[in-house]
Formats: sequence, structure tokens, C-alpha cells
Amino acid sequence: MKSVIERAYAKINIGLSITGRRDDGYHLLSMVMQTVGLYDSIGIYRTNDRYEISMDMDYAGSHPEEEITCDESNLCIRAAKLICSLLPESHGYYIHLTKNIPVAAGMAGGSSDAAAVLRGINAIEGHIFSSDQLRAMSVSLGADVPYCIDGGLCLCEGIGEKITPIDASLKTHILLAKPPCGVSTPAAYKWFDCHPDSAGGDINAVIDSIRKGDMKGIRDNIHNDLEDAARHLVPSIPDIEEIMEEKGAILSRVTGSGPTVFGFFSSEEDRSAASSEIKSKGLCTDIFSVEALTPDYAHEAERK
Ligand code: ATP
Repeated sequence: MKSVIERAYAKINIGLSITGRRDDGYHLLSMVMQTVGLYDSIGIYRTNDRYEISMDMDYAGSHPEEEITCDESNLCIRAAKLICSLLPESHGYYIHLTKNIPVAAGMAGGSSDAAAVLRGINAIEGHIFSSDQLRAMSVSLGADVPYCIDGGLCLCEGIGEKITPIDASLKTHILLAKPPCGVSTPAAYKWFDCHPDSAGGDINAVIDSIRKGDMKGIRDNIHNDLEDAARHLVPSIPDIEEIMEEKGAILSRVTGSGPTVFGFFSSEEDRSAASSEIKSKGLCTDIFSVEALTPDYAHEAERK
């Protein structure tokens, strides 16, 4: 096998608690993460040039608010260099990224791209590394990358690297609405550090409720410690949440450090009404109707 096309799926946080801080400044977290059906497509090609790692990208015909570069700062390049440095025999790689996940949106687009590159190169190289090994090497690329290796529904703790899969499936219609600006994750944490009020929430109760299919239980216990920071940085967030709830959402919250708002709906009709209203009020142009995905489904790569 000389090439693969991997899907790098977005995630949402069904709850995010900041539980402490490490001596090196990293925040300690307890988060429920869920893969959703919005993805970047990544073509990964082994080349004859033994050392060259390069990439280019497109935005699937759309015009993003924030463009990213294809240089050493791109997580695809960083991931490729990392795994290639650990291979017994060196190979060159060319990567083509088609970006659909909005950038700096709280949906782990960059982390998921990095994880997909690790999975893809590992597949081309004959699965030299186990998933555990991929997760271990990926921590240096970012706290969400280990989760993105397999994705699905998981409890993620530590700085994000302690991953416990949750044996349950979330059955709801999800709407993702991203206001027209990004939030830098460090800026959101900085705001939290200056206003460290945590209004509670109960991650274990959220997990129990997901297991029971108790949507009201999820709504009553869900909480994101970065929600206030995101609302401060992007003042249109409460308006988006309000529209979702007026149109029948069971709940609406910010994912990660925002600014994307997700809503859970019991019917496609309500979801579609919320989507139309948010668009017509000019609050968001990036709006996606998605479902929750399990890891098996999420990482069906197209391998050639
Ligand atoms: P998280 O939810 O993990 O905090 P996010 O969704 O808020 O992440 P990303 O879209 O992953 O944010 O982007 C964060 C930053 O990473 C961007 O501002 C961008 O400069 C940088 N970056 C590097 N490579 C990529 C990539 N392949 N895709 C997106 N962003 C990238």
C-alpha cells in the first residue's frame, strides 16, 4: 500500500471540567468527548524522496475566515515528521488536506488531522505501531490528539491523554453552529484562569445519563468550564443557544473553548428550523447537521 485517504472527524465536548493545574501550567481536565459526522479528508502518499515531507490543501470550495498554512506549523506536517522519525526505514510523504472542519472552532480539527496522519502513515508502513503507541507518541502534538486516534464516545482526563471509552451510544440529532470568528484555546484558558468560577456540572451523571438514554439527565448535569470564557470572547453565543432552545433543542452548549455551539434535538424538523433561523438572523454561516459516530464507523479509511 502506497497511499490512503483518511477521514479526520470533528469532536464535541459533552461536558468539560477543569479539575486543576499541573506544575508546568497545563490544565487538568475531565471531559466527555464524542466524535461527530463532520470530517476533513486527508490523502497521504508515500513518495520516492526518502526525506521530504510536504503538503498542500484546499477548503472544498468554501472561503474560510481563518486560513492555515502548509508549513512546519501545520499539524499534518508535524505528525508526519514525528511518526517518520520513529520508523525503521525513512520514507518521504506528500499529504493533501481538504479542510471542512472550521479552524479554531472547538472541534479539534487540527488534532484530528494530526491523528489521521499518524493512522494513515502507520497503515501504509504495515501497522508497525499499535493504537496505544500512536496515542503515546501523539501527546507531544497536542492534548486532544490521543483521543482523536480512535475517537468515539470517551471520558478524557489528565491533560486529555487518559482515555476511557464509554460503552454507550448517543442517539440524538446534533446541530453545530459556528459564529464567524475563531477562539484561540490559550485565550479561553487565560480568561478562565482570571475568572476561575466553576458552576458545577457532574461528568459522572452525564455519562450515566448517556448510558440510560436519559436526555434530560444529560441536560441537567452537563457543564463546560470554558463556556463563560467563550461567551466573553464571542458575544453572539447566547443568541445562538437561545434560538436552538426556542426551536426545541433539548440542550445547547459551547464545545471545548468554542465558539461553536452544539444543540441536541429529538427531531430533524426542530433541528432544521433552528438551523434556518440561525442562518436567517446572520449569526453563523458554518452550520452542520451531524450525528454521533462510533470509532468503527468513524475510521473507515479508503485504503488503496
Ligand atoms: P481544540 O478543540 O482541540 O481546542 P480547535 O478546534 O479550537 O481545537 P483547531 O482548528 O484545531 O482548533 O486549530 C487550532 C490552531 O491550530 C489553529 O489556529 C491553527 O493555526 C493551528 N493548526 C495547525 N495545523 C492545523 C490543521 N491541520 N487544521 C487546523 N488548525 C491547524
